Amino acid sequence: MSLQRPRLPLLGFAAYSGTGKTTLLEALIPMLTSAGLRLGVLKHAHHDFDVDIPGKDSYRLRKAGASQMLIASRNRHVLMTETPEAEAEFNYLLSRFDSEKLDIILVEGCKNIAFPKVELHRSELNKPWLYLNDNNIIAIAADEIVESDLPQLNINDLESIAKFVVDYANRFGKEKLPPESCDTLSPAFLSVEQGRQSILDRVPVLSDIETIQRANIYNRVLAKDISSPVNVPTYRNSAMDGFAIRSDDLNREHYQIVAEIMAGDTYLKVVESGQAVKIMTGAAVPQGADTVVMREQATVSGKTVTFGDAKIKAGQNVRQAGEDLAIGQSVFATGQRLHSPEMGMIASLGMDAAPVFRKLKVAIFSTGNEVQQPGIPANDSRIFDSNRYTLMGLLTQLGCEIIDLSIIEDNEQAMIDALHKASQSADVVLTSGGVSVGDADFIKSALESLGSIEFWRINMRPGRPLAFGSINDKPIFGLPGNPVAVMVSFINFVEPALRKMQGELNWQPLKVNAIATEELRSRQGRTEFTRGVYSINQFGQLVVKSTGKQGSGILRSMSEANCLIEISPAVDTVKSGESVTIIPLQGRI
Ligand code: AMP
Ligand code: MG
Repeated sequence: MSLQRPRLPLLGFAAYSGTGKTTLLEALIPMLTSAGLRLGVLKHAHHDFDVDIPGKDSYRLRKAGASQMLIASRNRHVLMTETPEAEAEFNYLLSRFDSEKLDIILVEGCKNIAFPKVELHRSELNKPWLYLNDNNIIAIAADEIVESDLPQLNINDLESIAKFVVDYANRFGKEKLPPESCDTLSPAFLSVEQGRQSILDRVPVLSDIETIQRANIYNRVLAKDISSPVNVPTYRNSAMDGFAIRSDDLNREHYQIVAEIMAGDTYLKVVESGQAVKIMTGAAVPQGADTVVMREQATVSGKTVTFGDAKIKAGQNVRQAGEDLAIGQSVFATGQRLHSPEMGMIASLGMDAAPVFRKLKVAIFSTGNEVQQPGIPANDSRIFDSNRYTLMGLLTQLGCEIIDLSIIEDNEQAMIDALHKASQSADVVLTSGGVSVGDADFIKSALESLGSIEFWRINMRPGRPLAFGSINDKPIFGLPGNPVAVMVSFINFVEPALRKMQGELNWQPLKVNAIATEELRSRQGRTEFTRGVYSINQFGQLVVKSTGKQGSGILRSMSEANCLIEISPAVDTVKSGESVTIIPLQGRI
């Protein structure tokens, strides 16, 4: 369910536990209300949290089976809603507030959901800073000063924090609130769907068309509509081995067999009353005849045939010319990927060749000083390059032409040169590694200096950082370095984009539901792609379990998996017996 958030300012407080979020809010709220703000507060709690008191009437009625329990008195009312299937989504929860009666909603928790937040930080806790990796942080309240362009407040100076909140609420007063979009909400913390959509909106479709001989069209994408140049079947023919007779001559005792036609033969005379022609499946039904009686119902004696008490319907067992496809009828539309049935169909139309989009050229390179070409012995501080080879496989599967630009060291100029070269020779460029926030992560700056860049943190695991941009209208994907993250990012973002660029229309990944046979760990607020193994259990149900350890460097998990289990951001942990979405990998990797 994707609901619009209420048109109210929303402000979160993000911090590690122990920072004193609730204590701070408790002290802050009276200051905000006395400044005139009407406050709603949303707090995310542990899943076995309960507001009710055992033994009270509401508790007893709820436990008796009321899935929604509204208890009301003179001073307040509370609606308790059971959500045993899946935790309610953030936007849905926000929609429960009566926005007419509020000026701002403050949120405690929900660290991984995209909306504006103030980071609370106390140095004594020795916890990492959140603002470094979270563009939703719009201000910092801490007990030390950091190097950042964000407004900084003293965490012990409640008055200035209150003033910040009041200013924020006024600045984003109800009437002035911009229409909500993912861009105004958060330019850099996107859901998987938002990321995919942004990419699809930006990549171009190939315009070059070539004509390819029918034997070589497998996996290419059709660039023009095809309508049938012939009738299929081309001539009226028999669907059975049997005897062809006239439909105005059905109830005769004996028929004289005047000829025998095999598939490929033609009988030039007209079949007359009292005559039958022995005919094989696929042979042209001769003129005059229009009905075929199957051989099993016939008794032949010398040159005559009888059909006993067989029920014969006029026109039976005859395939009409153009019955499957008439001349001029549309067969395939532009954007259709050509697989085995389409290859056969194109041949069945008598076509020599088909117009298809030219092959998409994809340049790939790996980055990293530790990354080494396999085949040369590696020392202790180096790893063999696997990503380039996984990408080669994925691109081969999609029928792309691969331009292999090897491994580029962690050096900004080297990356600029490589990206420049790649963008000149290819339609699209894929790199792996060097897109995090480490000291040697130069892809972003290289891309920035050559073209335009969007850098996103996608709310997903594995594969959170994703750089996407373009150089001279050529899309560039900076994929993460971890081998599993490369594959998961490719499947979710690159494959849909490449299919669009190749001209394929309306492609949708296959997703089905399966029952989890074990607990699957995730975290609310982000999509988890767990490597899974699905099977059919003894009751015929589709069930799924994980491949085990899920580290994003464990490439073997992709090899053991036959699906990705997609756990939605709305779900915390999937319990055994619950239904989950799976993305089968067969034919995709
Ligand atoms: P990076 O984002 O460049 O810091 O890379 C993240 C992790 O992925 C590091 O542990 C890298 O060593 C690893 N990695 C990066 N590129 C490759 C590659 N081509 N093949 C295998 N592992 C890689
Ligand atoms: Mg690296």
